[in-house]
Amino acid sequence: MYDLARVTGSILQAFVICPRQAWLMSRNISGNQYNEFIAIGRLLSGETYKRDKKEIMIGGNKIDVIRQKNGIINLIETKKSSRMLEASQMQLLLYLYNFSKKGQTIKGEIRVPKEKKVIPVELSDERIVEVENLISEIKCMLQKESTPAKVWIKFCKTCSYLEFCWS
Ligand code: SF4
Repeated sequence: MYDLARVTGSILQAFVICPRQAWLMSRNISGNQYNEFIAIGRLLSGETYKRDKKEIMIGGNKIDVIRQKNGIINLIETKKSSRMLEASQMQLLLYLYNFSKKGQTIKGEIRVPKEKKVIPVELSDERIVEVENLISEIKCMLQKESTPAKVWIKFCKTCSYLEFCWS
């Protein structure tokens, strides 16, 4: 059973892409660890931003890079492509939201090194409502005992659960 008290960034990101993926992750069901897209992601996180603090766990969330400049903290998520931008933005917004609840204002940024993109992410009032609604939806889905039905989407091709779901 998943600890509903905390919805992690990885679970939230997976949910935005595919609720079934989020449910499987929540039950610690492993996908194919040799998925080449996961391998590319690992390689990227190891090769970029060498001078910063990297892959730090804060409140159960793994943050790729934390950079501090002139007293301002910037959370940076690195992605291998902008294909899942919406999910990545929501993941980062969850981190910003969790920090804001502790009274800390910080900035966020998504970087796609291969595409030379830097996308600023800000926690506005509208975004706070969006994050809170999403957390409620996720908690509701994770309480269910049965796996959400599989639905073929464009992300299935690169998902680590491809074989689990479709073979
Ligand atoms: S393979 Fe497709 S349906 Fe299965 S978890 Fe991944 S994205 Fe969802």
